[in-house]
Formats: sequence, C-alpha cells, structure tokens
Amino acid sequence: MTANPMVPSAALVASVKAATHDVYDTAEIQRQDAAHYMHPFTDHKALGERGVRVMVRGDGIYLWDSEGNKILDGMSGLWCVNVGYGRTSISDAVYRQMQTLSFYNSFFNTTNVPATRLAALLVEISPPQFNHVFFTGSGSEANDTNLRMVRRYWDLKGFPNRHTIISRYNAYHGSTVAGAALGGMAGMHEQGGMIPGIEHIGQPNYLENGSGMSADEFGIVAAGWLETKILEVGADKVAAFIGEPVQGAGGVIIPPATYWPEIERICDKYDVLLIADEVICGFGRLGTWFGSELMQIKPDLITFAKGVTSGYVPLGGVLVGDRVADVLIEEGGDFNHGFTYSGHPVACAAALENIRILIDERLVQQVAQDTGPYLKEKFEALMDHPLVGYADTCGFVAGLNLVRKKAEAVHDCEFFEPDHGVGMLCRGYMFANGIIMRAVGDRMIIAPPLVMTRAQIDEMIFKIRYCLEATLIDLQQRGWVV
Ligand SMILES: *Cc1c(COP(=O)(O)O)cnc(C)c1O
Repeated sequence: MTANPMVPSAALVASVKAATHDVYDTAEIQRQDAAHYMHPFTDHKALGERGVRVMVRGDGIYLWDSEGNKILDGMSGLWCVNVGYGRTSISDAVYRQMQTLSFYNSFFNTTNVPATRLAALLVEISPPQFNHVFFTGSGSEANDTNLRMVRRYWDLKGFPNRHTIISRYNAYHGSTVAGAALGGMAGMHEQGGMIPGIEHIGQPNYLENGSGMSADEFGIVAAGWLETKILEVGADKVAAFIGEPVQGAGGVIIPPATYWPEIERICDKYDVLLIADEVICGFGRLGTWFGSELMQIKPDLITFAKGVTSGYVPLGGVLVGDRVADVLIEEGGDFNHGFTYSGHPVACAAALENIRILIDERLVQQVAQDTGPYLKEKFEALMDHPLVGYADTCGFVAGLNLVRKKAEAVHDCEFFEPDHGVGMLCRGYMFANGIIMRAVGDRMIIAPPLVMTRAQIDEMIFKIRYCLEATLIDLQQRGWVV
C-alpha cells in the first residue's frame, strides 16, 4: 500500500455526485459550512480554517465523501448505524408512513399504530422486568426523562429527599443540561452543564486504576466506590445510580466481569434504583439485545436511542421496569413530562423495520457467536504491534491503547505525553487512508456496523495495521518513541 491510495479520478468524483442526485461544489459547501453551520462538540473557528469533510453517501459499512473517497466506517456513524447504510426497506417504511400519517402527537388521548406496535415489540425483546416504554427524540432526552422519573418515583413513595443520582466520571449520558450533568465530562460541566443533586464516582478503568490487582479484584474495588458515595451522601438521599454497561464515548471502557453484579448488589442493599444507559449497548452492540443481559444485571430503567433506528431517523426512549412503572401508573396521576415528538410515527416505523432486520438477519446472534469472537481474535492480535500496549473488545466495540513503551504487564507500559496528541495523529492517518477510527486520548476505538462480515473485519484490521505502522514511523521521526 502506498501512503495515499485514495486520489480520486475525475470520473469517480462525477459518478459519486450523480449517485447523490445532487450536484455541488465541495469548496462551496465548505465555505457555506464555515460561514453558517455551528457543529456539535467542535471548535468552529479551527474547523472553518481546516475545511470540513463532506459525506455524501453510505452503503453497508462504507461511506463516500464529496471527493469520491471510499471510507470504511469503523464507528457506525456515531455508534448507531447497526444495520449498515443504504437499507431501502427502512427508507420505504419511512416513506410509506410519511404518506399515511406523517405526524400526530400522543398527548390528547391518542396514539398511532407504529408507536404502539414498537412499544409492544420492545417489551418483547427486552428483559422480563420491562413492560412499558416512554419515547423521546434522543438519548439525552431519555436521560432527562430518567432523572424526572426516578425523582417522581421517590416522591410518590413518600421519600422526597431521595433525589440524588450517582453517576461516574468520564460517563457520557448526552448533552441536554440533565444529560451533561449526569455525564462525567468535566469539559461539559464547565460550560453550563451541571445541576445540583448529581454525584460522580470513579469509572471501572482497569488500565488506569487497577495496578497491583487482578481485573476481577479491581471490579469489586471499583464497584465499592458506589457504596462509599452512598454512605457519604446518605442512603436516604440517593435516588438512583446510572451507568453505561460498557462506557462508549469515554473510550470503550470494558468493566471487569465482577463489576456490574457488585454494583447491583450495592443498589439492592440501599434500595437505590439502577439505570442502565444502553444508548450504545442496546440493539445487539455487545452480542445481546441489551448490554445489561451480558453483564447479568436487572436494571429498573434502560435508556435507549441510537441503534433502535440505526440512526435512520432520530428516536430515543426509556424502558420502564415494573418497579417504577407500577408506582407511576397506579399512584402517579399525570406525569408532567413529554415531547412533541414522543412516539413520532415516522421514527417508530423506522425502528420497527430496523428491528425486523436485526431479527431476520440474526445480527445479534451473529455478533455473539461468529463475527464478535472473530473481531476479538483479530483485534487483540494487534497487541503484537510495538505501539499497542493493550487491546480489548466486547461484542462489536473495541479499543486499543497506544503506548510509548510496551511492557509484559499492562500497568507497566509507558504512555505518551497527553499534549502530544498521539491518538489524534493516529486518527489522522486512519482518516487519510479510508478508515474511521475514533481517538479518546491515546485510546483508539471502534464500534463497527453489526453487518460487518469476517472478510470486512480482515480488511479493517489490515487498514488499522497499516495506519499504526504509518503512525509509528511518524513518531520515530519526531523522536517520541523509544
Ligand atoms: C449518544 C449517547 C447519549 C446521548 O444520545 P443523543 O441521541 O446524542 O442525545 C446518551 N447516552 C449514551 C451512552 C450515549 O452514547
């Protein structure tokens, strides 16, 4: 492979433009973008100076940009395109629904067919404690709903002081005010994203905090931080604990097997509600319908979004377990919460077809039994590369840590200076060579579409290896590796 095999021919560019049914000039889009479009989580000025990349088409696990570059999407868009791009059966379902009933609300003693059908289907595929669903437009709104719901639950139970929610540092729970506050990202808290009544504990990051312990020992220790925090806040003030089964945006932090059962034991001991934020882990991502099944816990509430529609249209929601639903429904009267687009018929139609695909193509089983184990074997083998100090996977999420100097025991690896930005450097090589991998610090992460085949895993691993090598050569020239 040469350094940049992706120089497009004029003919290819023209054909991509034709395929999008849209003729445009990349430079003009970039100019308009810089002038008018404020992107999420972006330094607007820096982006404008650099020039934004324009994505124009997707098919299966691949994307094409406006310059004709074909890119293997190792991140499923933003952890969401579980069934892959270009599924015409979903666009057909959406089109039919828009023609039949484009919108109606669920407020005034009314419902619509897709929303009701989807609620029933979600109950069928979710763990047995779930019999009710609350719909939102996104994962963030779903976590706002959780906050309101657990506080309402404890009010109704006669414990109005039980309002504190415990979360974890480096968690991601969205970017509404409640979502940002529940999350554990300091950069978000600093920018108006913190509210009272939310506490944080450490994350189960074995690599960072587990030195001197086996992973299983560390799992128990990390879960114990929850008990310490409950006692510090006062058990009579804690409403709930929220966590992602596997932390996604925080860097694919896969907890030791002992962690979640111990968290659940502590929640039970102090009568604290357990919320699993499954916006990433749901809908087959870990080889089970929901990540809490893999972790063998029974949460009271599950947040979902992303994979529920594979990102074709926005949809989120909360699976409400019987413990909470029974109180809210039997004793609660009006729950003064909801959104214009709660149960949007078009979004629900997309979700129904998306879930049908997941079921009919046995994608969850495929990840559990075939491609997930294959990815694990191939991805963890990257540890033979001199830059890779640690690599682990769980279903179809995976991460590897770039290190300055490897060691036999992971905790003895030497890391790069954080401000060298080695992860971003590596990400640049990935992007330039037609593969999307995300960098969280110096941890490189992927969450591929669940439709990815073994042959495509081989292709992805080949590209990752090539880019690791390019990164290594670059770092040697800078004198940053030993
Ligand atoms: C993406 C994400 C959210 C937020 O979902 P949005 O649809 O972006 O609001 C919440 N929790 C987790 C775990 C996520 O990954």
